[in-house]
Amino acid sequence: MYRKPVLTVIAILFIASCSKQAEEVDNYDPARDYFTFANTEQFVTEHLALDLDVDFKAEELSGSALQTMRRLDAAATEIVLDTRDLTIASAVIVTAESSAPAEFRLGDTDETLGTPLYITVPVDTGEQFDLVLEYKTSPKSTALQWLPPELTAGGKHAMMFSQSQAIHARSWVPVQDTPAIRITYEATIRTPTSMLAVMSANNDPLTPRTGEYKFEMPQPIPPYLLAIAVGNFYFAPLGENTGVYTEPELLDASVYEFADTQAMLEQAEAMFGPYDWGRYDLLVLPPSFPFGGMENPRLSFITPSLLAGDRSLVSVIAHELAHSWSGNLVTNATWRDGWLNEGMTSYMESRLMEVIYNVERVDEERVLMYNELLLDFERVPEKMQALAPRLDNTDSEDFQGTIHYSKGQLFLEYLEDAFGRKAFDDFLSAYFEEFAFGTITTERFLDYLDERLLSQEGSPVTRAQAEQWTYEPGLPVDARIPVSKNLENAKALAEAWSADEIQLSEVPFEDWSPQARIHFINSIAPDLSFEKLAALDGGLGLSATSNAEIGRTWFIQVAKRRYTAAYEPLEAHLNRYGRGRLIAPVYAALAANGEDLELAREMFERARSAYHPLTNEWIANGLYE
Ligand SMILES: [Zn+2]
Repeated sequence: MYRKPVLTVIAILFIASCSKQAEEVDNYDPARDYFTFANTEQFVTEHLALDLDVDFKAEELSGSALQTMRRLDAAATEIVLDTRDLTIASAVIVTAESSAPAEFRLGDTDETLGTPLYITVPVDTGEQFDLVLEYKTSPKSTALQWLPPELTAGGKHAMMFSQSQAIHARSWVPVQDTPAIRITYEATIRTPTSMLAVMSANNDPLTPRTGEYKFEMPQPIPPYLLAIAVGNFYFAPLGENTGVYTEPELLDASVYEFADTQAMLEQAEAMFGPYDWGRYDLLVLPPSFPFGGMENPRLSFITPSLLAGDRSLVSVIAHELAHSWSGNLVTNATWRDGWLNEGMTSYMESRLMEVIYNVERVDEERVLMYNELLLDFERVPEKMQALAPRLDNTDSEDFQGTIHYSKGQLFLEYLEDAFGRKAFDDFLSAYFEEFAFGTITTERFLDYLDERLLSQEGSPVTRAQAEQWTYEPGLPVDARIPVSKNLENAKALAEAWSADEIQLSEVPFEDWSPQARIHFINSIAPDLSFEKLAALDGGLGLSATSNAEIGRTWFIQVAKRRYTAAYEPLEAHLNRYGRGRLIAPVYAALAANGEDLELAREMFERARSAYHPLTNEWIANGLYE
């Protein structure tokens, strides 16, 4: 996902209180997935066939899920699947010889994990069989958002989309919802005839709009990459095997903004090895999409807040594309190893952006990322600051803020510096080849790093140094701190202007990137007069900006400083966007300024019906705990 240095999950922890303190567990097993009920050591799903009706009126999916399963333990007689808010109507076990109803029951519901589904399997069923479940979802499904027409760009058609990562696939498919397994899948999806369904599978840009759509995903994926969206989507090509789906109202803007996608794909292949997934398309969703992007294979889901009109925010596309290697091809074994998805991807994102654009732009983004990392170190408990912390199901999904993204990126940059870019690129290519279509723990990564690089004679990095990155809080003293001349200059001018040494008209904003403007805004004196804030707002048009990141930066400052003259556009910002990164920290700054907690709650209550359930949860955690 993309929550920037910003990633979308494990997600936005701009809210310190999200993270519950985990009790120390004596027999902690770092390789165990504490976020699933599934007994994957006894039974494992290898293939999934979905047959679902999409009912917008009832806000539910209903139909069947057929799982081709393998019994790994001959004595095991009970399958445990993950569910959340699902109604299971029947279970049937089908073998080559027979087809018979199976006994099933739902267990006790856990707030974090959902509800286990137990299915009895006769001991003589054999090693391989199909399990067919008839079921339907609930309107409360944490993965699915059902949008009424007025919350879409066109305003005429309803829409529905999923967000399965990290543990929400279970709220629309009864499944072993753990990255420990990989499944291929196929699906038949029936929709109203005016609509198009797309999935994280083989979307055909030329498919006729019949209201019945068939999909196949021949490459095995972890269940958190199951994805579906249904709406008034149309397609436009971006390159030979890249393109974009969105509502017709956003199609031209999307084609302009994401024009470099094909070049990014080709560059990524040159650097990291073959792209193993066929086509690479984007799906640009309405503002309520909770993340910057979600790396659903073959079809990244993208926030429309990237449509700045100047391609200044497309690092999110580089990020989602890079996940085709780190995350989708080589997958974190459990969410505790999430840095291997997100840190690796953030590193590759920077590398791609450097080639497609230039190193100055990347340095600007790295400095902003580093500054956000420092804020996370202030908020996130020390024990969660390790890249691979002791994480279990007493922790919320949002346990680490963006630390696994940015600290992970800095770790890999540290290794690149130490061993040289060529050697490190060779290491990465070999890593992706070695672990392709598999999962990896932090410990296996360290062993592989050891084998390939650390144990070489004269290695500049020891195993102990690498383990300091993965297991200790904060940053090692020899981390490479990002520097950008452009941003240093912006900061110096912000300080000079704050001190009345220069006029605002002397600051060459028009020559600056959005990133330099953001750094300027973040660098103005904390006690700046409201008169000067008004001059800055008027001079740069901050309250009316169409750049979502500049708006985010400005309105955090507005809220922190109680600059009430801009509270009306601040609320407009909160209503315009639904992406957690853009709004949760604005609510948090209002709530924390000593005066406006009630106001923040009122604004949230007015806006929340247009937000995604996940976004509502993050914001509510900050405002009501
Ligand atoms: Zn990501």
